[in-house]
Amino acid sequence: MNQYQHQWRDGRSTTLPNGKVVCVGKNYADHIAEMQSETPARPVLFLKPTTALCSADQPIKISHLSHLGAVHHELEITILIGQQLDTKNRDYSSAIAGLGLGIDLTLRDLQSELKQQGLPWERSKSFDGSCALSNFIPYTDELVLDDLNLMLTINGKLRQSSNSKLMLNPIDTLLSEISEVFTLLPGDVVMTGTPAGVGPLTPGDVLSGQLNNDELFGKTPVV
Ligand code: ZN
Repeated sequence: MNQYQHQWRDGRSTTLPNGKVVCVGKNYADHIAEMQSETPARPVLFLKPTTALCSADQPIKISHLSHLGAVHHELEITILIGQQLDTKNRDYSSAIAGLGLGIDLTLRDLQSELKQQGLPWERSKSFDGSCALSNFIPYTDELVLDDLNLMLTINGKLRQSSNSKLMLNPIDTLLSEISEVFTLLPGDVVMTGTPAGVGPLTPGDVLSGQLNNDELFGKTPVV
């Protein structure tokens, strides 16, 4: 059984259930460039099931995936949904319960293969444990959605660093687009896309992630 539960910054568990994760692809120009990909006309959306959820405070397990090729880290700003958003309820700011960081673990070799064959990505993106989430900072006006810094260090070296102002589709646009397709329910999470700097993880790596100047996870081992 999946033991994961959404946590607040102070360590308390939230009362929100584990919901679906809606992910956004190709939302930073520098990441599109490093993947030699093209800018999409509309946000690229895909899903991770609740069985993908795990905590970024716990060891990140990848060893059992080694036969499937490289596992890449994609650090992303995450949004915890606290109130339903759909085509009728469109009050984005009061629907956001919290902001955090997530690592969209990606089997990159497998994803390339699937892309080449024109097949869906889920095998490479939505497997068990593929969504490592930090705790969440309760959302208040002090957090400016269009000016959030995100940072990933691996073994003490800065590997991914960006700001939400560089998103091709800002957070309010994403929530609008997404909730026209998928009703967002309390406990759902939106992952807002990765900036440049993605790369393979190796067992023994140690990860830490910062949102603004707040270290949301630190010393997380990859095993
Ligand atoms: Zn991603």
